[in-house]
Amino acid sequence: MGFSRGLSVYPSAKPGPGESRSDASQARLYFYFAVPQLLCRTSHTRPAMTSLDIARTLIGFDTVSRNSNLGMIEWIRDRLAGQGVRSHLSYDDHGSKANLLATIGDRPGPGIALSGHTDVVPVDGQQWSSEPFKPEERDGRLYGRGAVDMKSFIACCLSAVPKMLAAPLTRPVHLAFTYDEEVGCLGAPRLIADARSRGVELAGCIIGEPTGMQVMTGHKGMRVYRCNVLGREMHSSLAPEGVNAIEYAARMIEFVRTLAAELRLNGPHDPCYSVPYPTLQTGLIRGGIANNIVPRDCEFEFDFRYLPDMDVEAAVDRIRRFARETLEPEMRRIAPEAAISLSLDHEAPGLLTREDDRLTYLGTKLTGNKRIGRVPFATDGGHFHLAGVPTIVVGPGSISQAHKPDEYIELTQIAECDAFVQRLITHLTTN
Ligand SMILES: [Zn+2]
Repeated sequence: MGFSRGLSVYPSAKPGPGESRSDASQARLYFYFAVPQLLCRTSHTRPAMTSLDIARTLIGFDTVSRNSNLGMIEWIRDRLAGQGVRSHLSYDDHGSKANLLATIGDRPGPGIALSGHTDVVPVDGQQWSSEPFKPEERDGRLYGRGAVDMKSFIACCLSAVPKMLAAPLTRPVHLAFTYDEEVGCLGAPRLIADARSRGVELAGCIIGEPTGMQVMTGHKGMRVYRCNVLGREMHSSLAPEGVNAIEYAARMIEFVRTLAAELRLNGPHDPCYSVPYPTLQTGLIRGGIANNIVPRDCEFEFDFRYLPDMDVEAAVDRIRRFARETLEPEMRRIAPEAAISLSLDHEAPGLLTREDDRLTYLGTKLTGNKRIGRVPFATDGGHFHLAGVPTIVVGPGSISQAHKPDEYIELTQIAECDAFVQRLITHLTTN
């Protein structure tokens, strides 16, 4: 048992959060400790310093979805500008968040997009061994919020820009970085619309969510619905003269549960998923103001994770019909104003790219791994798919390390992603 130690010197990147300018301008010593298990796997795959350094800088930006991502976006924009690459930013309605789209290569025609989201999930209430927004390297891993989901992928794309610029690309590479993926893939549709309006053509899209660098061709779609139940309030001693919104909400929730159980039994099924059938579940409820008042209002939200090729509307229609034909007539016998409304809060469309699609083939060629799978989580890729852009999900690290305290990525995964991007560049210069 033992470990090897590597020592190298490299210049630091432009100052990022928490880094002073003088610190950043100095060369830094970087010690790399490899654990035995890493040595067994790939001792030669030490990460390119530049990707690691960029990943560290990006983690330093607190881009939790409730915050602005502009610090990180502008840092990327400025870095690209310094390399002679112009970025186009598309903002959200408030102007506090932006997508970034940059095109590398001057040949016209459809290009390949490398896409990642810039936002991260919160750290509230989680027990971390180190500061979530101060990257730390330990045991051959990079720790920090966003390390695996998915700032290291973005870093690998950015570090490869000089090579892209130097290569005689036969078609362009587009860098497509989005906001608000973690809260419902809200930025991607705007980025796609913006690309279209400016005549940017996308031949394919690679979403770099963590898959251990395995090509994934699909994921379920997700819809979040909000249900509002309006009853009639009453002193609780006169309960039969009121309409209890919580109790009617409970019956709606039970109906959603029954539908979920039915879909589990009867399908549709896709054995490629770890949960091979659609799911529905209620995740949020609020209602009532005191225990001695028949509650007038109740609101709950449920999510529907559906298989991309199933008829979602038909399933949701059954929930609507139950409200309209069974519950509302009952409620209105007591209170004519009573009502149940169901509205779609947001949607992340499903992804289903054909396994014989050219992009799928390219992905397996570049990773050297012919195994194709599906991911259990939603990604921005659903929106690209919906827009008719062939899309695969392939990126460094494991999703099992995402969204948790002590989020990390193995440094070897960053190196593998660097090699993947390099092979993509080579492919785009020869094909
Ligand atoms: Zn993600």
